[in-house]
Amino acid sequence: MPVLREIKKSQRNKIGLATLLSGLVALSVVLTLTILLIASYQSKKQALYETTLTLNFTNAAKMSQTMDSLFKSMRSSLQYTAGILSSNPTTNEDEMYNNLEFMRHSSNYFNSVFVVDETGLIRNRSPYSEGAVGSRISTDAAKEALASRKPYLSHSYTSSKSNRLIVFMSEPLFEKNGTYRGIVGGTIFLQENNIMNMIFGSSNVDDVGSSFYVVGSDGHLLYHPDKTRLGEDVSANPVVQKLVQGKSGQEQMINLKGVPLLAGYSTVPENGWGVVVYSPIGAIHEQLNDHIQTLLLYILLPFILLLLSAIWLARRLARPFVSLADLVSKIGREKVQLSETKNHWNREADLLTKAIIVALTDISKQTEQLTRDAMTDPLTGLTNRRTLETIMNKWIAEQVSFSIIVMDIDRFKKINDTYGHQTGDEVLKQLAEIIMLSVRPGDVSCRYGGEEFVVLLALATVSDAYLVAERIRKTLETSNHAVGEQITVSMGIAHYPIHSASAEALFHLADKALYKAKETGRNRTIVTDIAGQSEL
Ligand code: GH3
Ligand code: MG
Ligand code: MG
Repeated sequence: MPVLREIKKSQRNKIGLATLLSGLVALSVVLTLTILLIASYQSKKQALYETTLTLNFTNAAKMSQTMDSLFKSMRSSLQYTAGILSSNPTTNEDEMYNNLEFMRHSSNYFNSVFVVDETGLIRNRSPYSEGAVGSRISTDAAKEALASRKPYLSHSYTSSKSNRLIVFMSEPLFEKNGTYRGIVGGTIFLQENNIMNMIFGSSNVDDVGSSFYVVGSDGHLLYHPDKTRLGEDVSANPVVQKLVQGKSGQEQMINLKGVPLLAGYSTVPENGWGVVVYSPIGAIHEQLNDHIQTLLLYILLPFILLLLSAIWLARRLARPFVSLADLVSKIGREKVQLSETKNHWNREADLLTKAIIVALTDISKQTEQLTRDAMTDPLTGLTNRRTLETIMNKWIAEQVSFSIIVMDIDRFKKINDTYGHQTGDEVLKQLAEIIMLSVRPGDVSCRYGGEEFVVLLALATVSDAYLVAERIRKTLETSNHAVGEQITVSMGIAHYPIHSASAEALFHLADKALYKAKETGRNRTIVTDIAGQSEL
């Protein structure tokens, strides 16, 4: 049927309900998992950022406090020595040297300490240096310190003599009468072992990648894990700018190399320097990735189980609808089995199944009725002409031998004319009953048209057929009828394959025999002879 083919064709690109439901369920489980992971990632990220920022700020504040105390001590150490030297203006060089040695070794604050007189002459130095003692100060910082006559702290500078990167601190020397006698100063060699890396450690990168640096009030690096960068001007760094302005705080920023960082920063009140503790955001993201991987490890198995059970449930839910669809799709193509009538736990599936079963049963009953109607004669209930021809052709195709009896009621027109058409119909029904009672179940009884009947007798010889025909004829002849007079029938017989191998010719021969029976006086049976002639 072209319509069915069309439907079948259109079904090819459609998605099955089970696949659809499973897909939907799988999609929602996967989406849930994704949302969960994203949410976890975001909240963990937020928490890590905040913790890192706070921690970095706390560390920067602690370190700046330490440095503040350190510089106060350094200052008082210088002041103490300055006091001793001022109170003994006549101190000889050896005593002065001893004082300087004592100051340097007792605290390790300075890499070198020295005394410069008011004219700029270096009077003494610890550690002793032949070239330096007796020479004149040459650096701008030392000159500025001498000229200022005040406690002094330099910016970092490179000494032209030793090519060292230096920070220099000094105290003025005044005699009791107020005469200015020069300065006592100490230096920190930033690139060498000094008090700062003794206190803060030489490698300052911790396991989460946090590290720190110290900048001077001019924005130059004074302490940095990468020693080659010492003295570098980093004042363009946004955090350093804030430190230079005297601000402390914490923030997410991008450094001069374009690396995003989480930085905490704090100023050192004593010297105006600043400490920055920072963590690269990349390192935090590595931690986050580890966290997500661990999370996945824990939740993946339960999620897979959830996914599988949800898919299983979806398929179970879809199953009744799938089998109903299969059932309905069979209609018109093959015989529909209605055995699938079990109850479903899903209300809609149950209702739909029952409704479809009822509808299908109804359809099948109607179809059977229609088929029967199409095959039978409504008046007598016998097989009709079309079915007879089909059966004859089928038997011939299968080479099943059979006899055919063609019969016609004698002078039926007269019965109709005398008793009316309805009575005629009664006579037709009566003959049909007689025929039915006279044949075996496998035989075919047919009302061929009008008052003509045909009987096919499977596997019956000519003489078998003759006996059956005679039985029918005699029974009719001797029956009582509504018309009250005798009714007779004439018959012609032929045999397959004895008389002919063609259905048409066979029928024609039986009809010819019937004609002969009419011709020779009616109420008799005539059999076709071997040569195709009819005989008694
Ligand atoms: P014969 O012995 O030569 O067969 O004579 P006959 O009168 O039977 O001949 P004919 O074939 O001319 O008449 C058949 C009649 O059967 C004509 C028609 O009125 C009647 N007939 C045909 N079909 C029906 C039917 O379904 N019901 C009734 N009551 N009569 C029918
Ligand atoms: Mg007739
Ligand atoms: Mg007739």
